[in-house]
Amino acid sequence: MGFKLAIDGPAASGKSTISARLAKELGWEHIDTGSMYRAVTLIALEKKINLENESEYSFVKDLDIKYHKGRILVDGRDVSKEIREPIVNENVSLVSSFPSVRRELVTLQKKAASVGNVIVDGRDIGTVVMPEADLKIFLIASVDERTRRRYLDFINSGKVVDLNKVKEDLQIRDKKDSTRKESPLIKADDAILLDTSDLSIDETIEAIIKLINDKRGE
Ligand code: C5P
Repeated sequence: MGFKLAIDGPAASGKSTISARLAKELGWEHIDTGSMYRAVTLIALEKKINLENESEYSFVKDLDIKYHKGRILVDGRDVSKEIREPIVNENVSLVSSFPSVRRELVTLQKKAASVGNVIVDGRDIGTVVMPEADLKIFLIASVDERTRRRYLDFINSGKVVDLNKVKEDLQIRDKKDSTRKESPLIKADDAILLDTSDLSIDETIEAIIKLINDKRGE
């Protein structure tokens, strides 16, 4: 049996960056569940379905979705870049609010997480996907710091964006994710709250490795 680490938190709290770096340092598997909801959103947009209508998402069960080493593949096609487009950001919270979509992806995620040492990041990992995790971390940062990080991500990838719009989008997504009926973004009772507003990536990784070692020593 490997060590299972669940990392949840709001948009742009650093979950994916931290999880990917940790996985590399420790040689563990990493599953970015947000990228799976984003992939389904991208395909739904391409199929031009009515995004508001849950019954039009029956295609999801036939998709072959795989996440491996930072790349997300749908039916063999690498969509890692497209899933970061603003149009996906704007619609992913709606798509991920449908119970039937969540059911399909949670089944996939549970299966993917059942191998050895693994880090799974998302919104409902500690509560739904891996309630049995050995360690649960709820990563937060102030909204201004999260806005700054997301803004820099866009700028570094050559996109022109408005800072206030980035902030507004984050807040809208957090509100939708935390107030939806089906597995909302919520800290599991046994999760450790880690505020990274004043921490660098290295400091955050150091703090988490210490928590892992403490857990292993128990
Ligand atoms: O983590 P990321 O920002 O890429 O996630 C994109 C969106 O996917 C979230 O805003 C949320 O709507 C959805 N999501 C979810 N449950 C997860 C992971 C992501 O509902 N476990």
